[in-house]
Amino acid sequence: MEINRRQFFRICGAGLGSSSIAALGFAPGEALAEVRQFKLARSTETRNTCPYCSVSCGVIMHSLGDKSKNAQSDIFHIEGDPDHPVNRGTLCPKGAALVDFIHSPNRLKYPEYRAAGSSEWKRISWDEAFTRIARLLKEDRDKNFVAQNADGVTVNRWITTGFLAASAASNETGYLTHKAVRSLGALAFDNQARV
Ligand code: SF4
Repeated sequence: MEINRRQFFRICGAGLGSSSIAALGFAPGEALAEVRQFKLARSTETRNTCPYCSVSCGVIMHSLGDKSKNAQSDIFHIEGDPDHPVNRGTLCPKGAALVDFIHSPNRLKYPEYRAAGSSEWKRISWDEAFTRIARLLKEDRDKNFVAQNADGVTVNRWITTGFLAASAASNETGYLTHKAVRSLGALAFDNQARV
């Protein structure tokens, strides 16, 4: 094999480098054979429930940052929770794409209010939102609650406002939501999963 002067020095340099590394106790063969670092090795795991449908699959969200105050958390991977009794680690395509949902620029993160006749949504605080919702519910219920029907039969119903519950809630939250809504007399009550 013919080599020029430049190639000769390059080969000598590579030989010297690898022999020095070997002399220091490193085995280049092993280093080259090492697999890539597992990308979840240093992540913080947080368990949650997929928000999309009533199957309510368990998910593990992997984030950077150790939850200390000066660390900015950033979710970079989500997968099915293998210990969850509902899905045993599996996710449908919607659940498998949850990480994009989280980082979507269109994701709604705070309450917004659009006044009647206005074309613009305005950001409001959670306190303002809850106060307004509670006041409107009370006003409507006070005005439209039906204690007895035309025949004098007790019905205790309120049919002018409807409720939509979230599908990602736990059994316990679902039970309490159902109790609260039905105790107000509301009949129009459904779940996000059926929308
Ligand atoms: S992963 Fe799919 S099936 Fe499971 S809760 Fe989410 S949307 Fe429903």
